[in-house]
Amino acid sequence: MHDHDHDHDHDHDHGHGHGHDDGSDLSAEQVRVRALESILIAKGYVDPTALDRLIETYETEVGPHNGARVVARAWTDPLYRERLLTDATAAIGELGYVGRQGEHMVAVENTAAVHNLVVCTLCSCYPWPVLGLPPVWYKSAPYRARAVAEPRAMLHELGVDLAPTTAIRVWDSTAEVRYLVLPSRPAGTDGWTEEDLATLVTRDAMIGVGLVNTP
Ligand code: FE
Repeated sequence: MHDHDHDHDHDHDHGHGHGHDDGSDLSAEQVRVRALESILIAKGYVDPTALDRLIETYETEVGPHNGARVVARAWTDPLYRERLLTDATAAIGELGYVGRQGEHMVAVENTAAVHNLVVCTLCSCYPWPVLGLPPVWYKSAPYRARAVAEPRAMLHELGVDLAPTTAIRVWDSTAEVRYLVLPSRPAGTDGWTEEDLATLVTRDAMIGVGLVNTP
């Protein structure tokens, strides 16, 4: 586990499908992706059906609802929570969420003392199996810079006002490690089922830029 550190060897996997310019020029990127896709299909390297299936999987099956289920399980099952905080990859795998960009997961728990915030300062490393594909803002230069330089001010603008006594810990994702924030269970949810709790867990809360919904 590493805290944010600009000097560590940030050995990124640059093969995960997005450009490494400012990351916000999606239309140009989409054009490049389409061109590449056509060439690969024409040359017979890629089966278009398999490709469609892969895209459909990430659009419909893999998304923040997976992470929400992990969080809700941790809220209701203390032993699961312990396993999640000890070996997140295995604990998340217990629920069937495995795959690319989720091979080395770390779960970080919010408490009254610490609020966790996840960023990828170099590009857009993100835990696909639990959160799906990263939102556009996650890849933007302002988010990547401000999450590190002025996280408290940025969170305030996003509607997350932390107590001055709550420290902010920023986690810089890499090809090796992807983070999932375990938010605090909201008050007033005693006796709720795991399924109902999961509906309160937002994607942004699992990145640390938002809060869970309250009942
Ligand atoms: Fe990245």
